[in-house]
Formats: sequence, structure tokens, C-alpha cells
Amino acid sequence: MTLAEVAERCYHITSSYLASSSDSAIVGSTKEALNLTRRYFLQDVFTQWNPFSKKLSFSYNGGKDCQVLLILYLSCLWEFFAESVGSSQYPAQYHQFPLRFLPTVYINQTETFTTLENSIESTRKRYFLSVYESPQNQTSMPEAFKKFLDVHPQTEAIVIGIRHTDPFGSDLDCVQKTDKNWPTFMRIQPLLHWKLANVWSLLLYSNEEICGLYETGFTSIGSINSTVPNPFLKKSHSDLQNPFQWEIENAFGKRKEDINKVRVSKLSSADVQLFAGCSDDEYYPGWYLVDDSLERAGRS
Ligand code: FAD
Ligand code: MG
Ligand code: MG
Repeated sequence: MTLAEVAERCYHITSSYLASSSDSAIVGSTKEALNLTRRYFLQDVFTQWNPFSKKLSFSYNGGKDCQVLLILYLSCLWEFFAESVGSSQYPAQYHQFPLRFLPTVYINQTETFTTLENSIESTRKRYFLSVYESPQNQTSMPEAFKKFLDVHPQTEAIVIGIRHTDPFGSDLDCVQKTDKNWPTFMRIQPLLHWKLANVWSLLLYSNEEICGLYETGFTSIGSINSTVPNPFLKKSHSDLQNPFQWEIENAFGKRKEDINKVRVSKLSSADVQLFAGCSDDEYYPGWYLVDDSLERAGRS
């Protein structure tokens, strides 16, 4: 596998999602959200910051939002590349995908679950991410990004998987400068308009492996000391239905024998010990929750 092949696969995932014939309202609104993000990347972002240069970087913390955004980003990278090949005077065989690794940045400061750390490591390999990982001393996010820019001074813009429903996310724009107390660069936020249900719909349809914590009832993952499974997913609390049965059964490249399976990463042994005492199926999986206002109910 190469980055070019992964980008092409992501393009097939999004194309196949857009061409699907599901009549669910969630799929319909996700197609609209997807097309808007695609327009942002292809018309507003890549025309200003060439994604094949070192001007653009991707902020990645292994969570569902930046994973779904990464799939969209790679899909658009492929589309951008294919368009340039199509409009070139030279035949396609003379064009090579210009990137081997995707510039990404991970600020590793809060103590987090080893399952998430392992998941970041395996996605790093699967998506050919060249990850800048911040030194693990306790500094603020702006300080950590200042250090990142010292090492990667060509960076002009960073892609972020923040949504309007996140804390302090309601007034943000797709393209904007950082705030005064932050180092100066452009923030690229093409996922703002995505609702929780849209994220799960495309992510589960993609059939890409996701972090195993989500299957155990996590809906938002923060530090190990302040995150628990979402209490609204407790089975004793209510009777919930899976809102994404269609996505799971019809997932991209799904094999018949896996029809009801979601691909999740293995829980680390440290996290298994951490959850010892909780029964295996005490919580519904994270994707059973689609109310944005309850997404962080497991965070203190
Ligand atoms: P999450 O869903 O956890 O994160 C949202 C997205 O932020 C993720 O998808 C990922 O793309 C990115 N992200 C979050 N944590 C990390 C991490 N540890 N390492 C790498 N990427 C991460 N806030 C301001 O008030 N003013 C600013 O100018 C500003 N600029 C920012 C620039 C960048 C590049 C980033 C990553 C964040 C910036 N923020 C800024 C903070 C931002 O608005 C969110 O508060 C922050 O990303 C945390 O998000 P969350 O935990 O609420 O949600
Ligand atoms: Mg998030
Ligand atoms: Mg976070």
C-alpha cells in the first residue's frame, strides 16, 4: 500500500456513499454535509494552500471526528490529483502522486487511554501519516503549536476536525486565523457543520477500523482521569436501537460473513484492567448515541 492507494480508496468510499440509494434521513443529510466539505477543500482550501506542499498540515488525535475528516481529506486529495492529471497535456502514466506521507501534528499532553495511543499508532501506519508528536511536557495547546511551527516553519494552515457542537465551536468559520493568544496560522475547519449522526454514518459506512473505546460506550475521548463511557448508553438506563444498521450492513467492501460487524481496534490490556469490574456489555456502543448535546456526557 501507498498513500496514493489509500487516498484512492478513500475517494471510492465517499463516491460509493454519495451514490448509495438509502432513503434514511441521516444518510441524506450526511451526503449534503459531505458535498459541502468537499467544496471547501477543493474550491477554497487547496486553491490557496497546495496540499502537496508543506504549507498544509493536519491535526490528528485519533478521535472519530478527525478520522472521518482524514477520510474526506484523502478523498479530496485524490480528486485534486486526478483533476490535475486530467487537465495536463501529458498522459496519465507520466504523473506520480506527489506525496508519500501526509504531514500531521499530534499534541500528546494529557494522559490518555493506551487503546487510543495504539489506535493512533496503527492509523499512522495505515494512512501514511508523518506525525509530529509534541514533547510530553505539560504546556498549553498554543505553546505546543508554537514549538511545532519552530520545527515546521513552512506550515501556513492546519486542518482541524472541530464541529459547531463542540465547546466554543458555535461561532467558528471554515477558514480563519488563530486567536491572539495563539501562534499565527490559518485554521481550516471543514467539519464544523457535521452533526454527530453524520460522523457516525460515514465512519461506520467506511468500514475503516476505529478506536475500540467507542465500542465500549465512549462517545468522546479525553484524558484518562476525566472520561468514562457515556451514562446515557447504559443498558439499564434505556432501551436503544442501533441507528446505523444500514451503514454497518452495507459498509464499503463488506464481506458477507462480517455483515453485522464493526471493525474496532483491540482494547489494550491496561485498559481492560482499568475497566475490570464493569461487565462487557453494560453499555451500548458509542454510535447508538446521536444527540449532539449528550456527546460529552461521559466527560467531567
Ligand atoms: P476534539 O473533538 O477532541 O478535537 C477537535 C479537533 O481538534 C480534532 O479532530 C483534531 O483535529 C484537533 N485536536 C484536538 N486535540 C488534538 C491534539 N491533542 N493533537 C492534535 N490535534 C488535536 N482554540 C482557540 O480558542 N483559538 C485558536 O486560535 C485555536 N486554534 C487551534 C488550532 C489548532 C491547529 C488546533 C488543533 C486547535 C486550536 N484551538 C484553538 C482549539 C480548538 O478550538 C479546540 O478547542 C481543540 O481542538 C480541542 O477540541 P475538543 O477536545 O473540544 O474536541
Ligand atoms: Mg470531537
Ligand atoms: Mg479533545
